[in-house]
Amino acid sequence: MIIRLARNSGFCFGVKRAINIAQETAGKFKNAVTLGPIIHNPQMVNRLKADGVGYVDSVDEIVDEAVIIRSHGITKETSEELSELNIPIIDATCPYVSKTQMVGRKLSEEGYDVIILGDYRHPEVIALQSYVPGNVIVIDEDSDLSDKSFNKAGLICQTTQSLEKLVKVVGMLIPISKELRIINTICNATNVRQESTAKLAKNSELMFVIGGKNSSNTKMLARISSQYCKTVHIETADEIDRIFIKDLQRIGLTAGASTPDWIILEVYNKIIEISESNLPRAINIEDISAY
Ligand code: SF4
Repeated sequence: MIIRLARNSGFCFGVKRAINIAQETAGKFKNAVTLGPIIHNPQMVNRLKADGVGYVDSVDEIVDEAVIIRSHGITKETSEELSELNIPIIDATCPYVSKTQMVGRKLSEEGYDVIILGDYRHPEVIALQSYVPGNVIVIDEDSDLSDKSFNKAGLICQTTQSLEKLVKVVGMLIPISKELRIINTICNATNVRQESTAKLAKNSELMFVIGGKNSSNTKMLARISSQYCKTVHIETADEIDRIFIKDLQRIGLTAGASTPDWIILEVYNKIIEISESNLPRAINIEDISAY
């Protein structure tokens, strides 16, 4: 049996940075919380809790803790509320997310109606809108724009959108905009994970996509993978059943941007264990053949 790990999988730069900041904060402050779970991975959230960094869902729940801003960022209003509490604020917002907020604000100040390609329910998009002082709308590739027209339209993207969607939305906006300015704010981490997953899935009999069931980027990887081979989305090694891997020769692993290495490693070891293979048990994550 060959087990391959997608070349680009697991923690992205922004998530790794946020987790490091949270762990450093745990060492510096007695009480620390993140505003909302720091990433969409329950196991990592629980591990941080054990290290002394819990989480609250709203500003009202904060008493006198140091508060860590997660990688998706927070709204301008929430940021102002936090400032009034006079507590230590540690900003772990991903620099790519901050940059998108800055670009949205600048376009608006230059007189553009700001159009965000993204999921209007996602915290990153909710926060992004709050930094745009003028007109702003959120659209996706299925939006009905038949009653819209723009003199000056400025298009930006939620960092995790795909290039294909951006191209499609640009095509929708050109006929209804006198001037259209496009700033591609898509983060490459998403694209490279999706490409690696597709490549590996094409060469596998079964793919395990590892990550939070609440993680949209992990769910997207599972959707992409399922176009090419049998795919199972799991959060932890405990969900792997012998029946999944019986008689298989080529198994692929991939993981969302919020899945820690130690969970990927546990999945690998579990497959080895239940496949009764002679492959070595004690490995580092780098030793799994990267595809
Ligand atoms: S996906 Fe990109 S923008 Fe989002 S946290 Fe990761 S590195 Fe930052």
